[in-house]
Amino acid sequence: MFVIGLTGGIAAGKSTVAGYLRERGATVIDADLLGHRVYEPATPGFDSVVRAFGEDIVAKDGTIDRRALGGKVFGKPEEMQRLTDIVWPLIRGLAARQIEQIGAGSEDPVIVLEAAVLLEARWEDLVDEIWVVVVDRDVAIERLGSRDGMSRDDALARIRSQLSNRERLERCDRAIDNSGTPEDLRSRLELEWERLHQRRLAEPN
Ligand code: ADP
Repeated sequence: MFVIGLTGGIAAGKSTVAGYLRERGATVIDADLLGHRVYEPATPGFDSVVRAFGEDIVAKDGTIDRRALGGKVFGKPEEMQRLTDIVWPLIRGLAARQIEQIGAGSEDPVIVLEAAVLLEARWEDLVDEIWVVVVDRDVAIERLGSRDGMSRDDALARIRSQLSNRERLERCDRAIDNSGTPEDLRSRLELEWERLHQRRLAEPN
């Protein structure tokens, strides 16, 4: 099997790229979805997060109120680290298990681990290659406005809280610029998919 770690800044186009790679036959693991599982009631993740941040982050329906939790950690690096120290290892564990299961269940699959925090969480060792999707800051702000109705100020705050494109580019194997049209992205990915298979064929077994 071959595992691509797909990452990039907010609204860079990770999900769009993952969707394309899925169409080509890759199996996609969405770390964001795994993140939701880690917060589910009656799990070790739920218990640890509530113990660390207090009962007031539990909503009336018994689930973690992500907004309340976000309010406790956003813009507070120490608190944010306290949270990520709890949840990142749990998400990593789920991702590693899924990779193993997919590997055992199909012959020579290409797996895409789509994870916004792949580099921050240091999950590089779970993957064979790192692909980074990048867009200029203004493009990300505009797409965040259209996708989420996010204001320019909120978008900027989110972007500034993440790694910069330059930091990501220094740590990736393949860079995918998504500043153009969806068709530009599609042809770039067709090329990358083709090149990936050529690299794999050239690999000594
Ligand atoms: P991410 O998963 O990195 O947050 P998405 O894949 O959701 O980013 O893309 C962000 C938004 O931009 C989505 O609404 C998506 O449909 C749109 N989008 C992605 N690529 C392009 C593109 N090349 N041109 C225009 N819109 C795009």
